[in-house]
Amino acid sequence: MKLKKYINLINMSQDCIFCKIVSGQIPTYTLFEDEKVIVFLDAYPVSFGHSLFVPKKHYETIDKVPEEDIDFLKKLPYIVKQIKKITNATGINIWQNNGREAGQIVPHVHFHIVPRYPNDSLFDFPSQKQLNENEAKDIVKKFNQNKI
Ligand code: AMP
Ligand code: ZN
Repeated sequence: MKLKKYINLINMSQDCIFCKIVSGQIPTYTLFEDEKVIVFLDAYPVSFGHSLFVPKKHYETIDKVPEEDIDFLKKLPYIVKQIKKITNATGINIWQNNGREAGQIVPHVHFHIVPRYPNDSLFDFPSQKQLNENEAKDIVKKFNQNKI
């Protein structure tokens, strides 16, 4: 067995679809791959070129990624630039779900790269209301007093 494949199997979580993609057990239309990350086309795209940027190591959600492992993200700007170029998209959304309530279906960290086109009426940021001053002060205080 090739060393690279063996390392992927060590980091893999049983029954995780994306780990199976990383280890080659499930085929994808792969755009890019290096030792830390794989980028492939989403099987159910919301727009032309919708891709998934996935670290090869298994972490369930972004808050589980240790600081020393975050460098898989280094390639994100290059991948976005390349996808934008080949699709002629005029905008790109990076979409990242953590937890079931946030819409995460596959519990292996991934970033959706969603090319956007003029008048695609795909989705917009939810409507916003002005920040409440007391709530803001409370959050800032809590954040700084409850260090992990
Ligand atoms: P999320 O809701 O953020 O967990 O999104 C998971 C995404 O993975 C969905 O957009 C699915 O369409 C996509 N997906 C699931 N299985 C595969 C697969 N085998 N190949 C490509 N994309 C997949
Ligand atoms: Zn996994």
